[in-house]
Amino acid sequence: MNGRVGCAFVLYVDNIDVDSSTFRVSDNCSVFMAEVFAIYKAVEEIRIRNLECADIISDSRSALMALNSLRERRNFINELKRKVIAYQGIINFNWVRAHRGTVGNERADVLAKSACEKEIVDAFFDTTKAEIKYESKRQALSLWQERWSLSRKGTITKKFFSKVSLKRVKGDFYINQVYTGHGIFRTYQNRFFGKSIECHCGEAVGDAEHVLLRCRLWGPDREPLGLKLNLSLLELLRVEKFRQFCRFVIQSLLNREIN
Ligand SMILES: [Zn+2]
Repeated sequence: MNGRVGCAFVLYVDNIDVDSSTFRVSDNCSVFMAEVFAIYKAVEEIRIRNLECADIISDSRSALMALNSLRERRNFINELKRKVIAYQGIINFNWVRAHRGTVGNERADVLAKSACEKEIVDAFFDTTKAEIKYESKRQALSLWQERWSLSRKGTITKKFFSKVSLKRVKGDFYINQVYTGHGIFRTYQNRFFGKSIECHCGEAVGDAEHVLLRCRLWGPDREPLGLKLNLSLLELLRVEKFRQFCRFVIQSLLNREIN
């Protein structure tokens, strides 16, 4: 039943449940569009019965808002709006909070769930441009994530960013060396240029974490900043004064290696 979408409406006349309809809509349809579709069918029912005055009660605030919006672009919703305006009688729209035991709402909810079990789809919706865009972006991101997770490269960067994201990471020549472990840190210099892996202090491996968070050589520059050193490197890199400190340390290390 996964991925199936259904909707329903119940018709009450003088508080008596007189009729109901259930619809299974195509699987690509959003819950929102299913709600709109149920309202659409309810309006049709009101027209057929030629009701003088009717209240449409929905728990979908977004569907009701779309009906009120002046800037709505979706054809189907605009068609529904035209139908409501053209109707001779009065149609009121009301919102009710879902799952609050409102009788008609609870019943429509149960019916909508049962509609998903129908073998036959009652209404097909074209996939919209926005849905295609959203889906291809989702697929691209998931493929990228898979490649990133399986890749043996970028192990240090992965510690910072295990999840891929379209958000830009603010880096620069210095900060990127922290994010990648490439550049001036001894772990890199050792691996690629055969230099000693030891930090200049001679007390530990000279990786970014040691140098920036713990190395006593940089203590006099680090301590006045009053940083919370129990935070991770990733968290600290969001603090501008720590970024300044990183730039200063890396520049100093560069100078030391050159001279
Ligand atoms: Zn050190």
